[in-house]
Amino acid sequence: MAYIIPIVLIVIVFFLLSRKRTKKQPKSFPKHWHELLLKNVAFYKKLKEEKQLIFQKRMMLFLQEINVEAVQFELKEFDTILVAASAVIPVFGFKEWHYNNLSTVLIYPDYFDENLSFTADVQGRKIAGLVGTGRFKNQMILSRKALHHGFRNATDKGNTAIHEFVHLLDHTDGATDGIPERLLEHQYIAPWLALMHKEMEAINNDTSDIRSYGGTSQTEFFAVASEYFFERPTLFKRKHPELYAMLATCFGTDTIS
Ligand SMILES: [Zn+2]
Repeated sequence: MAYIIPIVLIVIVFFLLSRKRTKKQPKSFPKHWHELLLKNVAFYKKLKEEKQLIFQKRMMLFLQEINVEAVQFELKEFDTILVAASAVIPVFGFKEWHYNNLSTVLIYPDYFDENLSFTADVQGRKIAGLVGTGRFKNQMILSRKALHHGFRNATDKGNTAIHEFVHLLDHTDGATDGIPERLLEHQYIAPWLALMHKEMEAINNDTSDIRSYGGTSQTEFFAVASEYFFERPTLFKRKHPELYAMLATCFGTDTIS
């Protein structure tokens, strides 16, 4: 969730001392990852074989360009797989994509609070992921628990890591404002705004099945609706056909076909 967090010095010091470099990533796609993806990543499972090969290549490209680092725990191969898959899913419809506004994905072991503490009292730790600003520019922080939960739960409509990568896509035009101007052609912008506002109103009137966090701002609406689009495409298309069509245009992919 894109909290704009004031960075305090003490947090930075703690953070810099506690991060661990990731293990070197493999250069080519490890064969056994295929089974892991089939078992855990529904989006991948639904792809035809030739598309799965492209997905694999895109994952490796991502891992060559972006560091994945664990903070105070040892990064497991499966963590890396889920991060790379989350990064590829929203951009898979594009011919090519480089996350130029990202250099590192930091994985925290658990949910964290606004001071980026994952050891504070559990009541205050509600943040599952964020895209950094200021000193944390070009960094994404993900809770490992939320990362895994996003793929494990097949019936919810959420996926924290996809949500954060969608914020990065939103930001490519210079503003994280829920209006992906680089992804939507100009003629779609006004219809997108109108549709977004209508859907946000429904959320805030409690007449929508889109997660309530999507009603808090345009930025969060775009990310929350996108999670639903990628996680539960069939249900999403049935419940929100207009929104489904718009997001399919935006991401260049019809997630059902
Ligand atoms: Zn968010």
